[in-house]
Amino acid sequence: LMASMAHLQEEKLRLQEELLGLQEKLAAQENNEISRSPQLQGQVESLKAKLLEQAQEISRLRSELGGTDAEKHRDLLAAENERLRQDMKACEGELRELRWQQQAPCRDCTHLQENAELQERLSQLQREAEETRAKLAELDLEVQQKTNRLAEVELRLKDSLAERAEEEERLSRRLRDSQETIASLKSQPQQIKYIIKTVEVESAKAKQALCESQSRNQYLQEQVGMQRQVLKEMEQQLQSSQKTVAQLRAQIAMYEAELERAHGQMLEEMQAMEEEKNHAIEEAFSRAQVEMKAVHENLAGVRTNLLTLQPALRTLTHDYNSLKRQVRDFPLLLQETLRSARAEIGQAIEEVHNTNRELLRKYQRELQLRKKCHNELVQLKGNIRVFGRVRPITKEDGEGPEAVNAVTFDADDDAVLHLLHKGKQVSFELDKVFPPQASQEEVFQEVQALVTSCIDGYNVCIFAYGQTGAGKTYTMEGTAANPGINQRALQLLFSEVRGKAADWDYAISVSVAEIYNEALRDLLGKEPQEKLEIKLCPDGSGQLYVPGLTEFRVQSVEDINKVFEFGHVNRATECTNLNEHSSRSHALLIVTVRGLDRSTGLRTTGKLNLVDLAGSERVGRSGAEGSRLREAQHINKSLSALGDVIYALRSRQGHVPFRNSKLTYLLQDSLSGDSKTLMMVQVSPAEKNTSETLCSLKFAERVRSVELGPVSRKAELASWPSQEQLEVTEGLPVPFLFPPHSGAPSGRSHVSPSTGQLSGRAASIRRKLQTSG
Ligand code: ADP
Ligand code: MG
Repeated sequence: LMASMAHLQEEKLRLQEELLGLQEKLAAQENNEISRSPQLQGQVESLKAKLLEQAQEISRLRSELGGTDAEKHRDLLAAENERLRQDMKACEGELRELRWQQQAPCRDCTHLQENAELQERLSQLQREAEETRAKLAELDLEVQQKTNRLAEVELRLKDSLAERAEEEERLSRRLRDSQETIASLKSQPQQIKYIIKTVEVESAKAKQALCESQSRNQYLQEQVGMQRQVLKEMEQQLQSSQKTVAQLRAQIAMYEAELERAHGQMLEEMQAMEEEKNHAIEEAFSRAQVEMKAVHENLAGVRTNLLTLQPALRTLTHDYNSLKRQVRDFPLLLQETLRSARAEIGQAIEEVHNTNRELLRKYQRELQLRKKCHNELVQLKGNIRVFGRVRPITKEDGEGPEAVNAVTFDADDDAVLHLLHKGKQVSFELDKVFPPQASQEEVFQEVQALVTSCIDGYNVCIFAYGQTGAGKTYTMEGTAANPGINQRALQLLFSEVRGKAADWDYAISVSVAEIYNEALRDLLGKEPQEKLEIKLCPDGSGQLYVPGLTEFRVQSVEDINKVFEFGHVNRATECTNLNEHSSRSHALLIVTVRGLDRSTGLRTTGKLNLVDLAGSERVGRSGAEGSRLREAQHINKSLSALGDVIYALRSRQGHVPFRNSKLTYLLQDSLSGDSKTLMMVQVSPAEKNTSETLCSLKFAERVRSVELGPVSRKAELASWPSQEQLEVTEGLPVPFLFPPHSGAPSGRSHVSPSTGQLSGRAASIRRKLQTSG
């Protein structure tokens, strides 16, 4: 017991100590609470004051709100409205009164005007009232809105007041709790004191009391434990914060040390740099001194050099100046040289030009000489000239490769033309070649000398030869707008005759005839179908004449046109197809110019025969029969005869076979003697006509190439080739190869196209002919 007593005593002491500690703590807490309670009191006070303030504010706001502008305005407007209503009522009363007055018969009184004015006023007032009403409605709306807003504000105010009351309540509750806690804490130590006393005094009850106190102790211990726990936590917190502080301190120290170190380092570096700088300055200084010395030395050397260089410089300057002068003078010099060079070149060009001109002149002279020689040769050949005329490609030639142009000309020589036939170019030389672009006028210029010579009493023949469609009729007759040789010749004759009218009397008459199938017809006669005969003049002059051939005297172009028209009409009535017929017959215009020199009584007669020959084309041998064959034979015969005659004339043979055809027989006078003949060979340039073109050109060249020479038996024997022979003997000296005419064109059957054997075969034919002749 004693021991337990002692133990209890010990325990008591310990508890007392603990109690003291707790009391201290309590006191501290109490102090704390006491110090906090005035604080809270203060807070409560301040809140109360605030509440009061706000209540005042609300009342102020409320009073303020009661007197807003809008409300005032509304009140005012309401008053105004009321006033206006009163006015209106008064006016209505007045109106009623006035109406009543109006009903009384007072027409001429001033009431009427007044009434009108009043009515006007009334309506104005009504309008005003209306406007005011609208305004009032607007204001009402505004007031309504404002009232709503006010209600809202009030509601908000109420809410905030309630909040404040709540806050107040909460605070007072908290105050009460605090006070209660303080009271309970105050009552605790007395209880403990009572327990100790009980332990001391009542030992009997000690055990029980001990038990109680033990349980109490237990509770207290728990309490203490809890407090300790709190304490520990707080200590831990303190420790952790201390730790953090220590850490932070350590860090700071670390940073400081680092800072110190960096500072030291920096100082060191600065020191080192300072030293380096000083060192470098020293070094640079010493180097500069050394360099300076070297420069000084150099300078001295340069000075001495300069002294020695001065004379060299002088010479250089001199040289430079002279060069400068040269350079300055160079462009002038260059210009001079260029000018002289240019002059030389110009001179050389001039010389070349002159030489060229000289050469050209010589060439032209040579050409003229050649022409003259040729003309002389032609004259020697019996005044027979051969011209070629190429017509342009026409629509009738069609299109495509068949209508391609196959004829080209020589730019320098107007007597040459080239024909591309079967891929080979064949060249022909005539007396003159007219290209497609040559006009009727140009063609006529070349023949007009011939035409005028018949005024002087010469006989002239102009033939148009060529295949059908080659332009014979175009050249001879031409078109109404662009007449040919016929009309132009007569016009020229008229003007020439007129020029000579002072001394001469001239009569120009024309006949138009046609030779078809060896029959001569007078196209101006009354019976065009009648066949005319060619007879010898009975006067024994040996002249030929055609009995019955009509001759028309013509004096003007109108006369000629009438004659031509008449001739055409007659020719057309004679045949079914004029085109076909005209290509199968020779058309002749015979112009006779008879002159009488009045002073001497000398008479001259010249004849101009303009002949549009039948088509020279070869008729297909197989297809032609009957009249067509006969036509072909006649044409062939007469054209061959014409060739024979011309050949005989040019080669000055004793015998000229004029009688072989009607045509040559009729023109005998005009072909022989000193008469002049022109053969105009017409060709088509179209590719499809090249073989006919080739034949025509060969005919032309043969007429022209007959050389003058002594009359020989050989030449006499030779005959002009028939049309068929022309076709098959290309490239051979034809006139010597074939038998003379035996009437029909039988020669063609003997001709071999094999050129290799021809010369031997020709010789044998010749021998045969000689023996038979
Ligand atoms: P031919 O009388 O030889 O049968 P044409 O004189 O009737 O040929 O000519 C045939 C066509 O060619 C005609 O329509 C004609 O107008 C035309 N013609 C011929 N030569 C020329 C030319 N030099 N210029 C213009 N057209 C031409
Ligand atoms: Mg014709």
